Amino acid sequence: MLDNKNMQNPFQNAMIQLSKAIKIKNFDDNFIVRLKQPDRDIRISIPVKMDNGSLKIFEGYRVEYNNALGPYKGGIRYHPATEINEVKALAFWMVLKCAVVGIPMGGGKGGITVDPKKLSREELERLSRGWVQKLSDILGPHKDVPAPDVNTTPEIMAWMADEFEKISGDKSRATFTGKPIDKGGCQGRGPATGLGGFYVFSALRKELKLPEKCKVVIQGFGNVGENAANIFTKNGHTVIAVSDSKSAIFKEDGLNLEKVKAHKKNTGSLKDFAGAKNITNAELLLLPCDLLIPAAFENVLTDQNADKVMAKVILELANGPVTPEADEILFKKGIPVIPDILANSGGVTVSYFEWDQNLKKETWTEKEVFEKLKPIMENASKKTFEYAHQSKTSLRMGAFLLALERIEKKS
Ligand code: NAD
Repeated sequence: MLDNKNMQNPFQNAMIQLSKAIKIKNFDDNFIVRLKQPDRDIRISIPVKMDNGSLKIFEGYRVEYNNALGPYKGGIRYHPATEINEVKALAFWMVLKCAVVGIPMGGGKGGITVDPKKLSREELERLSRGWVQKLSDILGPHKDVPAPDVNTTPEIMAWMADEFEKISGDKSRATFTGKPIDKGGCQGRGPATGLGGFYVFSALRKELKLPEKCKVVIQGFGNVGENAANIFTKNGHTVIAVSDSKSAIFKEDGLNLEKVKAHKKNTGSLKDFAGAKNITNAELLLLPCDLLIPAAFENVLTDQNADKVMAKVILELANGPVTPEADEILFKKGIPVIPDILANSGGVTVSYFEWDQNLKKETWTEKEVFEKLKPIMENASKKTFEYAHQSKTSLRMGAFLLALERIEKKS
């Protein structure tokens, strides 16, 4: 996010990653030139009638980056700091992410510059429907398939899907994923990103020389972070620290997550959780642990703090949390970073399952969904590791090489 002056432009970061990858392996020049710009980068003004009768204009975006592998696919982010470079970066990473897991989807991303917490539910609904009204021409099950991201919920996806159906007459419900179950959603979509990350971690744990039971630190306690915390805990690992936008807490012998959730619900914050120490988000990132999971935003590990990281391995469940400079520092320190385009791709994989079920008019159980997800994540993890190992490079570059090869073949 570009919400403070130290923050870097995420799209520039993404392009630095790309230029590093093409130094490792040759790709066709024209293919790479094409990949340096999105197919379409759309900015819209969304007029919303506010509850007090005034009209407010919000800025919205859809970036359709590349559809060599299938329809553009990617979430919609609502955040006050969301801007076009962030959306472009996220769309680019979606292209690679779909290729890493081998699903027939291209990459896109959307957003609105807004603090949704400052809107009433009715205003939020009008804003969400407004985004669809402005973009309905380019959306569709075989064209562009949005999904949730930061601050967008199944309810918002239901409003959007409904608006799209009204405008287009398309009743397949396959244009938006992440919908509520009773409105064509997929079982297991909620925990999918955290669970996918856990499958990736499990597939690589031995290769990365991590113990059977890990001490885990998680930044971000939203959809991804909270689900990851639950899944790691259920599987015998110990979550020793978590944070949200306002606070961070640390307990050396492990946090009781049910109690943490109850505390946050009652007080509105993680702060002052009984038995835990209040720390800052900056301190959380530097705690000694086996696994550090950034699950909030971009640019949290930079050249300012990477050399102080004491985690043994980093699992990027957020998109773009490690800057290219930090990547270099961590690589030299021997701290493997399991990259976002692999680690958090469980979300888009289950979104793809939702799209597939909607088109085929099928309904899969949660068990079926997870059984289909696991081998996809394991396979992508092994391939990424192989590619990194063969080229004696980082896991991020391994994932880039794997993805670029697959996209180039279809371009
Ligand atoms: P969310 O809105 O549900 O949660 C975000 C969390 O981050 C909240 O707990 C918030 O309090 C916290 N946060 C905000 N600012 C913070 C800060 N400065 N320090 C620490 N915590 C902060 O969003 P989400 O869906 O969980 O997404 C989190 C990340 O995961 C994003 O980078 C997103 O792009 C990525 N991601 C999400 C999905 C998905 O399925 N939702 C899939 C792939 C990747």
